Amino acid sequence: MKLLEYEAKALFAEHDIPVPRGMVIRSPDELPDRIKDLPPEFVLKAQVEVGGRGKAGGILMADRKNGEHIARELFGKQIRGVPVREVLIEERLAITHEYYASIAVDRSSKQALILFTESGGVDIETLARENPDAIRKASLPLLLNQIPPFMLRDLLGSAPKELGPVIQNLYRVFLSRDALLAEINPLVTTPGGPFAADAKLIIDDNALNRQGITQNRDLTEREREAEKHGFSYVELAGTIGVIGNGAGLTMATLDLIEYYQGKAANFLDVGGGADQERVMHAVRLVAADPSVKVIVVNLLGGITRCDDVARGIISAGISQPVIVRLAGTNEEEGRKILDGRGYRMLDSMEEAVQAAVEAVQ
Ligand code: GDP
Ligand code: MN
Repeated sequence: MKLLEYEAKALFAEHDIPVPRGMVIRSPDELPDRIKDLPPEFVLKAQVEVGGRGKAGGILMADRKNGEHIARELFGKQIRGVPVREVLIEERLAITHEYYASIAVDRSSKQALILFTESGGVDIETLARENPDAIRKASLPLLLNQIPPFMLRDLLGSAPKELGPVIQNLYRVFLSRDALLAEINPLVTTPGGPFAADAKLIIDDNALNRQGITQNRDLTEREREAEKHGFSYVELAGTIGVIGNGAGLTMATLDLIEYYQGKAANFLDVGGGADQERVMHAVRLVAADPSVKVIVVNLLGGITRCDDVARGIISAGISQPVIVRLAGTNEEEGRKILDGRGYRMLDSMEEAVQAAVEAVQ
């Protein structure tokens, strides 16, 4: 889960990484009362989970005189389509140079990958493409609880030594917060020392519990619901809802939709041994996606009984048409139950998928 800049900065500060003094406001109306707490010149930063906010107009300079006016302007904006609901107001730094530092989990080597460059502030992907030699890299086993000093010296090169402890502390945040990525861009030097002018922290979703985070904000409401039921559920961009049991059958159904030139809106794998209630929840969840115009249910009965599945589909009571392919245990009973209620049950998955693609055309 991605943290917002001010949340990441609070954690950075706990680990002795210097961050600019600041406060968060949720409306421009809060500003007049608090303006006296602010330095004469400050920066307003939209708290949106969007990269490149600066270029997109999400970072504005202001002072005590025009602060409220600029804040109104920022709260009225959408940054790459995302409305601004929170703004971080920070002291304006007298930046002498912008660096970049990040630590990420490198899945292939199963190590921590540290990147550092003296050309910070810019988009790191662009720099990696245009001037890869400007980025220094180091890998270290995650078992180490600090970056070995020789490694830190190599990373920094001729950059100021005062950046060393910042990167060392960034590694502590990275480890203790179960992060997949901890990034400071730009990491700046000022006459008052180094500062993390920006902060990015992505927590491993598998560690949210341990980190005391009860809700994964990166998931949609439906994705959270699916997680609760133990369904594998993924949202896509089309109009056909897909329910299958087992990853293989579900993927095969998606492939067939592609083959018949349809587009799936989502897919849900109910897993093994789906009973009536699980099927009902699955159908309701897939149908709750407003882009779903028709649903294909493609299930193989083994432990799962087709009559249970049929009852589950009916008890979901959804408005979209459901096209069903059921095979296996109690298949005939399932067919009877569905036929009686006006649901289409087809014999092969090819027929079911074709019927669904035709239904949305
Ligand atoms: P991003 O565009 O979302 O990455 O937002 P950043 O927080 O990284 O800010 C973008 C750029 O705004 C930085 O690279 C700086 O050049 C500039 N900036 C941000 N905060 C300050 C500040 O306090 N003082 C000055 N002079 N520039 C700042
Ligand atoms: Mn940045």
